[in-house]
Amino acid sequence: MPIDATLPYDPDNIFAKILRGEIPSKTVYEDEHALAFHDVNPQAPQHILVIPKGAYVSWDDFSAHAPDAEIAGFVRAVGTVARNAGMVAEGYRLLANIGQQSGQEVPHLHVHIFAGKPLGPMLVR
Ligand code: 5GP
Repeated sequence: MPIDATLPYDPDNIFAKILRGEIPSKTVYEDEHALAFHDVNPQAPQHILVIPKGAYVSWDDFSAHAPDAEIAGFVRAVGTVARNAGMVAEGYRLLANIGQQSGQEVPHLHVHIFAGKPLGPMLVR
């Protein structure tokens, strides 16, 4: 069920639980600002999610309210994850869903990283 990204942060969302270690995940990277793990339902041969450690509902919330150090740390983490996974040479795609029309399901900002095959058109036509 897509979420309304204007709603307040729900500390019981599934990614908050992963950050607290209450639910397992296949971690690929962690630093002060970000955690990256494999998507449970991969849509490409490589499908990694990168989330900030701070409590932000969406890219809108994050870009409006996060301190500069968190934004810089998160953006660098996304690049590092893709680089460490060997995705740069053949290319990869970033995607972040924000709110209802995007289909965002988990109300904690996450950037999807897809790679491992030609990824096709950007959007379903
Ligand atoms: P959204 O549609 O919100 O952009 O993407 C949510 C993503 O989270 C989906 O790709 C979904 O497969 C993934 N996901 C949902 N629950 C879990 C979970 O418990 N663990 C992991 N690793 N991924 C999850």
